[in-house]
Amino acid sequence: MIAHHFEYEVATSLGEAVNLLQKHGGRAKIVAGGHSLIPMMKLRLAAPEFWIDIGRIPELSYVKEEGGKIRIGALTTHYVLETSDVVARGCQALGDAAGLIGDVQVRNKGTIGGSLAHADPAADYPACILALDATIVALGPKGERPIPASKFFLDMMTTALEPNEIVREIQIPIRSGRNGSAYLKMAQKASGFAICGAAAFVELDASGALANVAVGITGVGNHAFRATETEKALNGQKPAPELLKKACDNADKGIIALDDIHASADYRLDLARIFARRALEAAIQRAG
Ligand code: FAD
Repeated sequence: MIAHHFEYEVATSLGEAVNLLQKHGGRAKIVAGGHSLIPMMKLRLAAPEFWIDIGRIPELSYVKEEGGKIRIGALTTHYVLETSDVVARGCQALGDAAGLIGDVQVRNKGTIGGSLAHADPAADYPACILALDATIVALGPKGERPIPASKFFLDMMTTALEPNEIVREIQIPIRSGRNGSAYLKMAQKASGFAICGAAAFVELDASGALANVAVGITGVGNHAFRATETEKALNGQKPAPELLKKACDNADKGIIALDDIHASADYRLDLARIFARRALEAAIQRAG
């Protein structure tokens, strides 16, 4: 299908992007890599009257360690995250996820800010953002607003962003001591999107017991969620196969699973339990 007619505007700075968004109100859409917006428009699921292209704003693309955080600009591509030393050192799960997104073309154009703002229920990053306890920094007419990952994903393709706000940066705390994270998924064969994806973060204390365990799951429900029952069952315990299995039997607790042509609800819930355990095993191995 051919997309609806629209006017194209290029923002050369963050301030200009916010002003244009404010000026056009709900009639405009930001475009970053275009790899989710264009398919949505071609399917006529989105029909913005104005495109505000932020793809040429240089100050939006970076990965750096600063002030105890890993700071990632919204325009950073999946490929840059997949190959970043900073990410490999401090938040491996995000690098795992970036390397599993779509194909090379998608990874070279698509951006982390676009993926988070789009909030596809089968997207990979949301699980990692939750497990890594990240903060999404939004920028609007009133300035910056930090949004904890746990409050960002509200529903299918719905986030806590206001219509006149842009994702500016993603911040991930840098942890000291023995810690590790990992992301694994069962991919839909054609697109690569997650039928179920799980990210895990763990710390190991001096005695070898688990601490600050966090598990994020995507692809299963309307939006990504934290497997809080699993986390609770593991904190303070020494990792062992039986314990992990038992804890992950509750990874899907309270979730209403999606049911579609790709997978039944029951299958997705099974995958949530299995992939939570596998992601935890990988994170524990990296922490060790
Ligand atoms: P765009 O398409 O430009 O924008 C998407 C939405 O976000 C729009 O509503 C736009 O207005 C908004 N937006 C963009 N940037 C911002 C910003 N900074 N602030 C506020 N709003 C913003 N994703 C996966 O997770 N896993 C996969 O396996 C996967 N496979 C794919 C396979 C194919 C063939 C394709 C085409 C896409 C796939 N994707 C997958 C999606 C891909 O990751 C997209 O790149 C990503 O979802 C959107 O990023 P973008 O920069 O292209 O955003």
